Amino acid sequence: MKILIVEDEAKTGNYLRQGLREAGFTVELTNNGEDGLHLALQGDHHLLILDVMLPGMNGWQVLQNLRRQGKEMPVLFLTARDQVEDRIKGLELGADDYLVKPFSFAELLARVRTILRRGRSGTEATTLQVADLGLDLLRRRVTRGGKRIDLTAKEFGLLELLMRRKGEVLPRSLIASQVWDMNFDSDTNVIEVAVRRLRAKIDDGFKSKLIQTVRGMGYVLEESAGA
Ligand code: CA
Repeated sequence: MKILIVEDEAKTGNYLRQGLREAGFTVELTNNGEDGLHLALQGDHHLLILDVMLPGMNGWQVLQNLRRQGKEMPVLFLTARDQVEDRIKGLELGADDYLVKPFSFAELLARVRTILRRGRSGTEATTLQVADLGLDLLRRRVTRGGKRIDLTAKEFGLLELLMRRKGEVLPRSLIASQVWDMNFDSDTNVIEVAVRRLRAKIDDGFKSKLIQTVRGMGYVLEESAGA
């Protein structure tokens, strides 16, 4: 799931980005309201984490603009100010939750998960299913044939990508950039190893193999016809 962070303090922004990535989210970070608004309007983020005090356009203005333009993504406000009127203002403008700095990452993550579970539009699926393989984005849980499969955060991200784009051959370069935030010219062996491990967990012991290698092209997840 994709999260956009708008935070002008580099330290806080980087800390949040890293933590949320480690928790398995795809994260985009910007340090000003104008760019934040633009990215939010263009993108398909599941959540916006929005600092209130920003240079130029502040968090409230970003949210007002978003709502005015009909963008209904959930918003979690961050603020250093613990003022009742600030909270009321944010909630009146349509924020979903409010977190006062300083906060612990564990608390932020709990709030993020609660908001995502609650959803806003209810149009975005939170589970993916291919044949008897199920992936629950909120509970971070994978099952095959009803049996629970434990994955690392990277394996989960890799499987999520393959399942979202099932039937599509995904080149290693795309997997590298989407799941590892790295370029293709880095060590691509990382991806082969990860796919091999993921395949062992997903396909070993099952008659139908879901993850296929397309030689010279990449990987695809689909229900195989024969097997
Ligand atoms: Ca700030």
